[in-house]
Amino acid sequence: MHNVTVVPFRGPAVSLSGRTVAYMTTDPRTVTFRDPGDLIAAVPAMVGFIPERSLVLLVFDASGTRIGVTMRHDLDLDSDGIATEAMEVMVAHLCEICLRDNTSGVIALVIDDRFDIGAPCWDHLFALIDSGLEDVGLYTGFVVADMALGQPWLNRWGAMGTHGDRGILDDPRSSAMAVAHAVTTGRVVLRSRGEMVDSTARTTHCADPVCTYAVDSRTKTAAIGVDDSELLRRVLDVVLHGLDTHVDCTQLRILEAAIRRPPVRDALLALAVSDVADAAEAVWAELTRRFRGGGRACAATLLGHLHYVRGDGAMAGVALDCALDSDVGCSLAALLDRSLRAGLRPSTLHELLPTSYAAADKLGVIMPAPAERVAG
Ligand SMILES: [Zn+2]
Repeated sequence: MHNVTVVPFRGPAVSLSGRTVAYMTTDPRTVTFRDPGDLIAAVPAMVGFIPERSLVLLVFDASGTRIGVTMRHDLDLDSDGIATEAMEVMVAHLCEICLRDNTSGVIALVIDDRFDIGAPCWDHLFALIDSGLEDVGLYTGFVVADMALGQPWLNRWGAMGTHGDRGILDDPRSSAMAVAHAVTTGRVVLRSRGEMVDSTARTTHCADPVCTYAVDSRTKTAAIGVDDSELLRRVLDVVLHGLDTHVDCTQLRILEAAIRRPPVRDALLALAVSDVADAAEAVWAELTRRFRGGGRACAATLLGHLHYVRGDGAMAGVALDCALDSDVGCSLAALLDRSLRAGLRPSTLHELLPTSYAAADKLGVIMPAPAERVAG
């Protein structure tokens, strides 16, 4: 496997409190790694951000040359560098996900700056993973202190063909995977996790000099007399034409009431696979920043769903965390969050599409048709 060819995806990975699951989606371009250092440098592009103090598992599908799933989890270690009981349970869970889809091999990468890359504690962790992977076993385990240019990496478990067991890391930001990802998607994926969280940070509600917006109060009354069909049309209009920079309080309250109506929200989910997905993403992000409480949760759920469908597990996780922080009772956000953590592929969400189009139909509104290519 010293010349691993991998199909890059449109942006993978995860969710806060350390639970991180990333996906590789299908894409016609391939990336070839010359040596293990290339593979390690590509990990941030696979995970969707630069991981720190993390365990990353790269799971090869039945073909043996394509990474099917990438998983990252925070490293929860005791003072000797040994996995805590909670970490052991999580490793067992991650291994179960690995074994689910005809996995042909698994590579583990430890990123940690608390213990030496040559410390014996890593053998303990790799042995734990090896045993959890049953007959498949752990193919190779690498350790690096930081995902940064010039950092030494070490092969601590198994071997990678004729390549040496150590080397120096290239810049992950210019790795073949990161470049391929940027070329195929037009997006730079290597933001820090903090930058992703900042993209959902609260802003002022509206441009009115005297804004009287209060969480969960006038929002519902603002839309009295406006039926669901009209509410859906108004949101679609904003997606297609953009949100006015001087948007007023009343208009925002109507939009909030709209996305909080389940039939309207269900119909809006269809935008994630349409040609106007980018515009929808911008609007959901903007509304997430402007709304509070249940409204913020609904906007962040739409945002999380859109990223999940696209295969960007990292941003999906951030948005869903935001939704659940704003309203822990948001059932759609909870469902999506569970699916993401369980490693369900974005294509699973396509089963919801007919429901979305049916919801729009029922409201007598024609939604933009699905675009050709969607994440697998
Ligand atoms: Zn306002």
